[in-house]
Amino acid sequence: MLIQNVTLPGREGSVDLRISDACFTHIEPNLTAEPGEETWDAEGRLALPPFVESHIHLDSVLTAGEPKWNMSGTLFEGIERWSERKKTLSVEDVKTRVRRVARDQASFGVQYVRTHVDVTDPELTALRALLELRDELADLITLQIVAFPQEGIDSFPNGRDLMVKAADMGVDAIGAIPHFEFTREYSVDSLNFACELARDRGLLMDVHCDEIDDEASRGLETLATRALEFGMGEKVTASHTTAMHSYNNAYFVRLLRLLTMSGINFVSNPMVNTHLQGRMDTYPKRRGVTRVKELTEAGINVSFGTDDIRDPWNPLGTGNLRDVVLNGLYVTQMMGYPQIAESYNFVTHNAARTLHLDNYGIEVGNPARFIVLDAPNWVEALNFNAPVVRSYRDGKLVAKTEPATREVYWG
Ligand SMILES: [Zn+2]
Repeated sequence: MLIQNVTLPGREGSVDLRISDACFTHIEPNLTAEPGEETWDAEGRLALPPFVESHIHLDSVLTAGEPKWNMSGTLFEGIERWSERKKTLSVEDVKTRVRRVARDQASFGVQYVRTHVDVTDPELTALRALLELRDELADLITLQIVAFPQEGIDSFPNGRDLMVKAADMGVDAIGAIPHFEFTREYSVDSLNFACELARDRGLLMDVHCDEIDDEASRGLETLATRALEFGMGEKVTASHTTAMHSYNNAYFVRLLRLLTMSGINFVSNPMVNTHLQGRMDTYPKRRGVTRVKELTEAGINVSFGTDDIRDPWNPLGTGNLRDVVLNGLYVTQMMGYPQIAESYNFVTHNAARTLHLDNYGIEVGNPARFIVLDAPNWVEALNFNAPVVRSYRDGKLVAKTEPATREVYWG
């Protein structure tokens, strides 16, 4: 197959992509179609590797308002509302909702998803559903599952046993929630337990770390230290880290040295955290988004995630990562032109590094996974919310959108 005239970021002029046996074999200008070869002319549109959703909770999608709406808008009321909804979960209920969202995600060009699944449930219902979906959806989306202890590891009955059970059942990554544990000691102990479990099982790690406006919430230093000592930094991710927004600068500068040495990844969820954080402030109100600009400038890997889609923590959302990038750029004040132009990395290459993906990117020899946007470059794609007109996975078309036409009658 030959995809003609795509624009690649950072490259002058357009190129053609030849795909054979589900992989890229040539990426060059002006390739000639072979007799009988299937072709499509992209007419200069931007091609990117598929979007990577690096942080979402698929088990709770589409449950907003069930049984009640989160009216305070706080993280903690969200956890209460979810705790009520969780009692009514069934495997089929989870599967039905996740299939709907996965189709939406695929239509937006997402092909890789890291989902956190609440394992503070003695039945592990959502986890069983997601493990089955990981196989069912494999031709459309690569799912990575994190064992996420929503109500704590040491603060929830049999929390440690449930984490071990989830690891036995085949999760891809181990989570933790240090800021939600009852005490500082539980916070540190739960992180040590989670890091050892991930190390011993050879699993990835992704911790909900310091998702609170409390400047004294310092799970991150423990996580980064264990990652450094265990030599597993690039396999470890700290998600949210919203307390970092409120850290004093003297502490942050000291911490930054450790973070750089540890090599851990960060995920920021700018839309949901601007909505959830600062809720106990009157005015001025903190934004509560982690220091994306400073971490990025220090050479630390940061990606952006959606976190929630129409659930107790976010009443809106579709899984379109363009919304997340746009919001993230504004709220982190990364609005210099080069920062905008390169911001696709937050939901492509940086996120792929967080997920530890192999063979990701539009390069000869890699699986032919890519998307084509209805825009000549990323800045226009962001500005005009350009749809992903085509999404290919291993050379196969998995999603297609016809761009809307606009007409204006004036003068
Ligand atoms: Zn989350």
